[in-house]
Amino acid sequence: MSVDPGFMGRLELARMFAGIPFKIESGCRCEKHNAAQKNSVAGSAHVSGLAADIVAINSVTRWIVREALIQAGFVRIGTGKTFLHVDDDLSKPQRVEWVY
Ligand SMILES: [Zn+2]
Repeated sequence: MSVDPGFMGRLELARMFAGIPFKIESGCRCEKHNAAQKNSVAGSAHVSGLAADIVAINSVTRWIVREALIQAGFVRIGTGKTFLHVDDDLSKPQRVEWVY
């Protein structure tokens, strides 16, 4: 599985809105790699190539990245202590935000 081109395009759009580099700490994962992750779920959007975890280690960066993701049309965002998860998985609930 590779990263979905539509997802990648929207992520690039968000990066342009943000005006800062996006450091992706986790993108596409195989099932095995996914299962080894601390916060992984079975059927994760990471396995479908539809998700990315963007490093955001402080409140300012978190705000900039989240605002840009929403501006780019993303409707699924998870907040971790040091990253924001975003995905484009239409098989999962839309317009949701959660914390890890
Ligand atoms: Zn993730």
